[in-house]
Amino acid sequence: MRFEVEYTPQQESFRKEVNTWLEAHVPKDMGFPVDAKDLTSEDYQKRRKLGRDLGQKGWLWPTAPTKYGGGGLSIDHDMILEEEMERRGLSLPPYYDSGGTLGGASILVWGSEEQKEHFLPQIFRGEVRTWQLLTEPGAGSDLAGVQTKAIRDGDEYVINGQKVFVGSNHGAEWSWMIAVTNPDGERHRNLSWLIVPMDLPGISVVPMDLLTTGGEGGAGTGVKNTVFFDNVRVPAFNLIGGENNGWRVASTHLELEHGGGGAIRRNTLVERLFAYCKATEREGQPMSKDPEVRRLLVEVFMEAELSRLFGLRNYWLAHARKPRSYEGSQSSYFRKESSLRIAERILDILGPYALTNDEERGILNGAFELHQRGAIVGLHPGGTTDIQRVIMARRIGIGRSTREEAGELA
Ligand SMILES: Cc1cc2nc3c(=O)[nH]c(=O)nc-3n(C[C@H](O)[C@H](O)[C@H](O)COP(=O)(O)OP(=O)(O)OC[C@H]3O[C@@H](n4cnc5c(N)ncnc54)[C@H](O)[C@@H]3O)c2cc1C
Repeated sequence: MRFEVEYTPQQESFRKEVNTWLEAHVPKDMGFPVDAKDLTSEDYQKRRKLGRDLGQKGWLWPTAPTKYGGGGLSIDHDMILEEEMERRGLSLPPYYDSGGTLGGASILVWGSEEQKEHFLPQIFRGEVRTWQLLTEPGAGSDLAGVQTKAIRDGDEYVINGQKVFVGSNHGAEWSWMIAVTNPDGERHRNLSWLIVPMDLPGISVVPMDLLTTGGEGGAGTGVKNTVFFDNVRVPAFNLIGGENNGWRVASTHLELEHGGGGAIRRNTLVERLFAYCKATEREGQPMSKDPEVRRLLVEVFMEAELSRLFGLRNYWLAHARKPRSYEGSQSSYFRKESSLRIAERILDILGPYALTNDEERGILNGAFELHQRGAIVGLHPGGTTDIQRVIMARRIGIGRSTREEAGELA
């Protein structure tokens, strides 16, 4: 069976149109830092402008409904757009925005018509960028244990509490979050899901001093922050899916964040590793001719290829609106563990040079050093590997009499 996608002449003609447009709109002087935390404000603003321009064309969130500001395009169009952005070292969108992938998807499932018409076009056209505010100092894997409170007062909710690990370094116009709306309520039935404008009085954002995971094209989450809420008043209109129904709303974005949405991106670092080993000589011959290096490169290739195929399968399941169960967690678990195995092999191939971003000795401006760091940090966000195992066990029916169902999706 062939898994590779083949494109029709019409699709190739769309690719041409995309390329002509990107040629005219991607700034020639845009910087591409290796580590997302080094993205300058100037380069960030260039990415935001590119995002708004893409949004105007319906190419920022190509498959989102046109009625709500998306492109209403097919997944083939989406794949072509993503491939052409990737060829330029960019992602779609060209910055981290969990509002489009996760928050927007939750509003689509749970928002009222009025809420969809108000919030979604601003997200899908790139006019606002959003962060996700879920984790708290005492509630990470046990997300239902959050303590931040949003208590109704007239037409508003008053928020008090603290969220941690919030990306990223250039701020966001909105955030979406879960908070306790009924402090006396039963666990899982005491929470609500809200959209919060980040310029409201009482919000303060303090950077956390942590390892960063970077991200190709400066699209990664970069710096992490603690966000404090001190009597922040949010309009009641911003509560999505009904009061105390937030855990069900969260089931939508958690399913997607745990891998249920799939991915079509290739592992470009692996491709750069192959190119480096072919071009670099060690003991009088290209590194790739050394049998041991070659063995390790083949293993790296297999890891990256399997991850890609899991991502592609889930991308197809999502867009074909097929039922899902354990597949998201399976893909997330495999990708994270596989990234560690790839990092180990890269270290075996490159030796200590894989561990430095020193100007003289760091390889590819420190891209491999960032990967070594990121592979460890990357086990944690979006549900740790332990949590993906727990979810898989529940969904394939191990240790429970009834199989757990996947989160609620559009
Ligand atoms: C790079 C990065 C980016 C992030 N971005 C965001 C963000 O934008 N927004 C946001 O809200 N949060 C974000 N997070 C937070 C992330 O979601 C949490 O770190 C994660 O959910 C784990 O929570 P915790 O750190 O509190 O660890 P804990 O939940 O305290 O877990 C500690 C350890 O115990 C294990 N463990 C916990 N429960 C179980 C169990 N039932 N069975 C087996 N093992 C278990 C975990 O796997 C982990 O190894 C980010 C984290 C990182 C590292």
